[in-house]
Amino acid sequence: MKLGGRSLKIVLGVAIVAFGLVRYCGSQEENPYTGRTQAINLSTDEEIAIGLQNAPIMAEQHGGLHPDAQLQEFVDQVGKKLVDNTIARETPYEYEFHLLRDPNTVNAFALPGGQIFITYALMERLDSEDQLAGILGHEIGHVVGRHSAERIAQSELANTVATGAQVGADAGMLASQIGQTLLLKNGRGDELESDDLGVKFMIEAGYNPEALIEVMQILKEASGGQSVPEFQSSHPDPENRIEKIQAAIEKYRLN
Ligand SMILES: [Zn+2]
Repeated sequence: MKLGGRSLKIVLGVAIVAFGLVRYCGSQEENPYTGRTQAINLSTDEEIAIGLQNAPIMAEQHGGLHPDAQLQEFVDQVGKKLVDNTIARETPYEYEFHLLRDPNTVNAFALPGGQIFITYALMERLDSEDQLAGILGHEIGHVVGRHSAERIAQSELANTVATGAQVGADAGMLASQIGQTLLLKNGRGDELESDDLGVKFMIEAGYNPEALIEVMQILKEASGGQSVPEFQSSHPDPENRIEKIQAAIEKYRLN
């Protein structure tokens, strides 16, 4: 049988996609802190370096650090208390907590390796230290869960799949859909895992985990405007998250 140009292209396209999948599946490892198996292509040192490299850039995008030294110190202390009393202290990451000056964007986020940020716009909406602990606990969850590193491995896979799709033209439609679905699905999972870890860390550090539910309500109100908080981004609907947070509180309080 002779392969025509078009069939050859499809075969090649499928081969490239298969190569990407094999590489992706070959990079599976168990996260010792969450017990979850995930595909990672970065070392923890690389994660820390990426975080440190990007921290000043992220800060600049939010008007730099907030000038109030006392408030910075407070954010730092709450973050440190969460790290010191949980599995986070056993990870190789170097946690640093930053209050950003940005008075408009309601947001909090974590870079790989331990650089964690909260904007003043979100900070000023909080009524308690426990609520701040809920946000920082959730962000520490992203770091411990290695979500950024996992995303990077996924986007490598998605790029390979897209290349295969371009080569294979016809087979491409299906292949690129697989890549997209995978990314979305894991984004949702990231938020839920971080909520779960956030609750666990709060309880271990002596904070009231119900405050994370209050945070969800604060974010829901805040999203009445145009700004879309990271906590809600394109992910699970807040009601669903509240239910899961409640379940996590019951689960970890029993232990
Ligand atoms: Zn998050």
